[in-house]
Amino acid sequence: MISFEAARALLLDSAIAFDREDMISLEESLGCIVNKNITSDIDMPPFNKSAMDGYACRMEDIDTPLSIIETIPAGYKPQKTIGPRQCAKIMTGGVVPHGADCVVMIEHTELKDSSVQVIKKRENRNICFRGEDIRAGDIVLQKGTRIGPAHIAVLASVGCDPVPVSRKPVFCVIATGNELVEPKSTPSDAQIRNSNSHQLRAQIKKAGGKAVYSGIASDSPEAIGAMMDTHLDDTDIFLLSGGVSMGTYDYVPAVLREKGFTLLFEQVAIKPGKPTVFGKKDNKYVFGMPGNPVSTYLIFELLVRPFFCKLMGGNHTPQVFNAESADTIKRKKADRREFIPVLIQKDGAVSKVSYHGSAHIHALTSANGYITFPIGVTEIKAGEVVAVTVLQ
Ligand code: AMP
Ligand code: MG
Repeated sequence: MISFEAARALLLDSAIAFDREDMISLEESLGCIVNKNITSDIDMPPFNKSAMDGYACRMEDIDTPLSIIETIPAGYKPQKTIGPRQCAKIMTGGVVPHGADCVVMIEHTELKDSSVQVIKKRENRNICFRGEDIRAGDIVLQKGTRIGPAHIAVLASVGCDPVPVSRKPVFCVIATGNELVEPKSTPSDAQIRNSNSHQLRAQIKKAGGKAVYSGIASDSPEAIGAMMDTHLDDTDIFLLSGGVSMGTYDYVPAVLREKGFTLLFEQVAIKPGKPTVFGKKDNKYVFGMPGNPVSTYLIFELLVRPFFCKLMGGNHTPQVFNAESADTIKRKKADRREFIPVLIQKDGAVSKVSYHGSAHIHALTSANGYITFPIGVTEIKAGEVVAVTVLQ
């Protein structure tokens, strides 16, 4: 059994970033990792732009009545140059005409006998100057950046469509277990519904990955092996749930060995998720996760997701912050690092949720973060400051 830190380090070391680049439409690029430094093709703003609705004029003239020589809506190229005691009526986003060095906001002016009088004088020029945000040729996004909504805006504004991104690894999700039926079926006496595959595919989607769903394999080496074979060619990462523990019908580690995977670890000192298996064969990877749904959920967040991000050339950086624990939380054994789902309260403190163990997936619907018991620690006291990781 290896420590959580050692397991993470091992799998991150073995993740060789995909070098293949895909061009993906801007529309579909959310969650992808940019595979090149992205530069701007233009200055931003691309021209001296009015920040206000008002009058463009020369600062030195604001004590005198100004005659209006032109009206400049957004999207219009000014035809005239502002001379002494002249101004142009201008809208927010309009091009500031030559000769003008400020825009007086409309609320600070009065119109008298068809000329403009400035009634409140301010130092502000109210001009967004050409290139003050970004210069043509500047790097706007670094290679390795994960694309979020703000990054989409930047890509759009520099005309980057399609976007060069790292190829998305393809996951193949396999549920193992004779007891499993799909959600639309009503389980008979000894059956339960397969929730893991659907939850894992949702997590993959949220993390920006692609998932192939292969269905349920019964607890037999042949069935598990055959299902992997069917998807071997188009899979980068296999995610198997169930069948990794010490039961008579837990065949997954043996099947993986038989398929030629080198297993880098088979047990991690964590709770839940101890029998997690990670293996590698050439450029294919496999995670075997214990079947209890909270285990698969957390193992995905703790191990699979960082691995996946590394494979795409990025870094997984979950949000972690310090908070007071509202409750005293105890445990009996302290031989593993334990992850406890918590609810982050409005006041920033965290409280425990009703949680009966790794089968209790419903508990995660009341939680939005987790805290950890390090090895050797049996009690977190109310008022103690703990590190909380936000569950995204
Ligand atoms: P296992 O890891 O195969 O020993 O399974 C541990 C527990 O998780 C058992 O109670 C299983 O019935 C349950 N389980 C396994 N696979 C799934 C699944 N796909 N969805 C929901 N529960 C599962
Ligand atoms: Mg099983």
